[in-house]
Amino acid sequence: MRLDDSRESENVEDRRASGPRFGGRGTIGIGTIVLALVAMYFGVDPRVVLQMAEGPPVSEEQAPATRPPADDPQARFVAKVLGETEDTWGAVFQQDLNRRYVPPKLVLFRGATPTACGTGQTAMGPFYCPGDSKVYIDLAFFDELRSRFKAPGDFAQAYVIAHEVGHHVQHLLGISDQVDNLRRRNPSQANALSVRLELQADCFAGLWAQRANSARNILESGDVEEALNAATAIGDDRLQKQSQGYVVPDTFTHGTSAQRVRWFERGFKSGDIRQCDTFSATSL
Ligand SMILES: [Zn+2]
Repeated sequence: MRLDDSRESENVEDRRASGPRFGGRGTIGIGTIVLALVAMYFGVDPRVVLQMAEGPPVSEEQAPATRPPADDPQARFVAKVLGETEDTWGAVFQQDLNRRYVPPKLVLFRGATPTACGTGQTAMGPFYCPGDSKVYIDLAFFDELRSRFKAPGDFAQAYVIAHEVGHHVQHLLGISDQVDNLRRRNPSQANALSVRLELQADCFAGLWAQRANSARNILESGDVEEALNAATAIGDDRLQKQSQGYVVPDTFTHGTSAQRVRWFERGFKSGDIRQCDTFSATSL
């Protein structure tokens, strides 16, 4: 990727130094985290447990919203990619949807961190929490992407960020809320609906790549292949085969490798948000 001319977003919140972490110097021990997870299973708000154990939780207001240090190349990369998504989606919202784009915050954390959706953990991979409109990433995931999932490259990482920002766009457009309601009414369709939501986030990531590239020429040769390779590597079928040796389509929640590639490409080739309607598509 060529990001020399890209501006860094101001919406990156760095909790890597101050945030709670497993063991180490953190304020929240592993026992508390386990307790909080158990509590989550029983329907108790994990923040209650964290508060009981450690005093007031780190809430949005109390958390020091630290900017990442200027000499941290990985954090600067993330801030530039996030800035690119802000400029692109700002334009799409204004030009195509006649709405204002409110960008998400992106939190860098290590180990574990409190979120409006419960305790965020490294093992969950990058995720978006609609409750606080924040994308959460432990940068260790990018090492996993390279080594365990064999998906190296800066654009593979950018695709992951763009996918999570895609979930934010779905939240802003009310799509995630509609899907949540549908899921509650049709529990048997819950996984199928989740697949359509995930594939749409992939299509949005492709759309972003196309629009950002035509505005600022950010792509180099091999970049799109890096994203497609990452999409292939984290398809449900591939992940299941790796972990259990066989594939169970009913349990898919993100879509197969081929589907993820197809929808990223559809967004990338068209650059058109109307092409990303995975919910009306007869075949995925
Ligand atoms: Zn997703």
